Amino acid sequence: MSEHAGNLRVLAGGTDLIPSMRQKLFEPQFVLDLRGVATMRGIRPQPDGGVEIGALTTLRTIERSEFLRQHYPVLTEAAATVASPVLRNMGTLGGNICLDTRCLWYNQSLTWRKGCGFCIKKDGDLCHVAPGGTKCWAVFSGDTPPALLCLNAEIEIAGASGTRRIPLRDFYTGLGDNYRKLQSNELVTRIFLSAESANYRGVYRKLRVRGSIDYPLAGVAVVMKRSNGHVADARIGITAVNPAPLLVKGASELLNGKSLDESLAEAAGDLAAKTAKPLTTSALTPEYRREMIRVFTKRAVLAAAAN
Ligand SMILES: Cc1cc2nc3c(=O)[nH]c(=O)nc-3n(C[C@H](O)[C@H](O)[C@H](O)COP(=O)(O)OP(=O)(O)OC[C@H]3O[C@@H](n4cnc5c(N)ncnc54)[C@H](O)[C@@H]3O)c2cc1C
Ligand code: SF4
Repeated sequence: MSEHAGNLRVLAGGTDLIPSMRQKLFEPQFVLDLRGVATMRGIRPQPDGGVEIGALTTLRTIERSEFLRQHYPVLTEAAATVASPVLRNMGTLGGNICLDTRCLWYNQSLTWRKGCGFCIKKDGDLCHVAPGGTKCWAVFSGDTPPALLCLNAEIEIAGASGTRRIPLRDFYTGLGDNYRKLQSNELVTRIFLSAESANYRGVYRKLRVRGSIDYPLAGVAVVMKRSNGHVADARIGITAVNPAPLLVKGASELLNGKSLDESLAEAAGDLAAKTAKPLTTSALTPEYRREMIRVFTKRAVLAAAAN
C-alpha cells in the first residue's frame, strides 16, 4: 500500500467515494476496497462497560443496535438520519467520520467546475465563497461525528508504522480542503466509546431540504445526565456549519449544575449559534442555518432534559 498510497483511495461503503469519483473530485489510480476485512466490522461491548466499533460497521447496523440505543442513544439517533435506508445499508461509520467536506462550488461535475474556473479545493487557486481569501471553507457534513464528539469518542488509526489512538476531536483540522489528520497510507480502523460516556440521554436534530435523503445543512447533538432535577453533565456538538464538526465550547460550564428551563436552553442555543460560522457553501442562507442551530440547540437541550 505505501508505494502507491499517494494515488490510492480506500473504499468502505462507497456511497460518497463513487459519486465523487464520477464527478472527478477524486481521481485515484488505485481504489482499495476494504469491505472484505471482517475484523474492521462489528459492535463489541467491552468488559469495562465501554464499546469498540469497527470502522466498517454499517450505519444501518449502528441504527439497529439495541446495545447502542440503550447506552449511547445520541449515536443511534444521528446514524438513523444519514441519507436514506439504502445508503445506510452500504455506508459505514468510518466513512461517515472520514467524509469529504462539501461546497456548492465543489460538488459539481468537471464541466460545471471548469466553467467556473475551478477553486482552491481542487485544480484552482481562488475561492468563490470568500473571494480574495486563501482558505477553503467547504463544510463538514457528516451526521454522526457531532454525536461521537459529545460521547468523547476516540479512534484508532492504522498505518505502515503501527497504530495510534486519538480523541476524535483532534482528527479534524478545521480546513475545508485538507480536513482530516490522516496520511494517505493510513486507515481509521476502530471507534471507541468509554464506559464514562455511557447512559447519557441523547438527542440529534438536523436541518435538511428533503427529509428522506439529504445531507445536513445544520445539525446539533446533545448529551445530558441529570441528577436531583439538575443537569449533572451535558455536552453539545454541531455539524454542517463549519469545515469541521465541533463541540460547543463553554456548553458544559453553562449547563452543568443548573436546573434547566427555557431561558437556560435559549442561552445554550445562543452559545451554539456563536460557534457556527456558516458561509454560502450550501443550500439555504448562512443566516438561516445559523438561526436553526440556535433553535435546534434549544429544542434538543429541552428534549434531552425531558426524555
Ligand atoms: C444522496 C446522498 C445523500 C447523503 N446524505 C448524507 C447525510 O444525510 N448525512 C451524512 O452524514 N452523509 C450523507 N451522505 C454521504 C455518505 O452516504 C455517508 O457519509 C456514509 O457514511 C459514507 O460512508 P461510506 O462507507 O459509504 O464511505 P465511502 O464513500 O466509502 O468513503 C468516504 C470517504 O472516506 C474515506 N474512508 C472511508 N472509510 C475509511 C476508513 N476506514 N479509513 C480512512 N478513510 C476512509 C474514503 O476514502 C472516502 O474519502 C449521502 C450520500 C449520498 C449519495
Ligand atoms: S469554500 Fe471556496 S475553495 Fe472551498 S470548495 Fe467552496 S469555493 Fe472551493
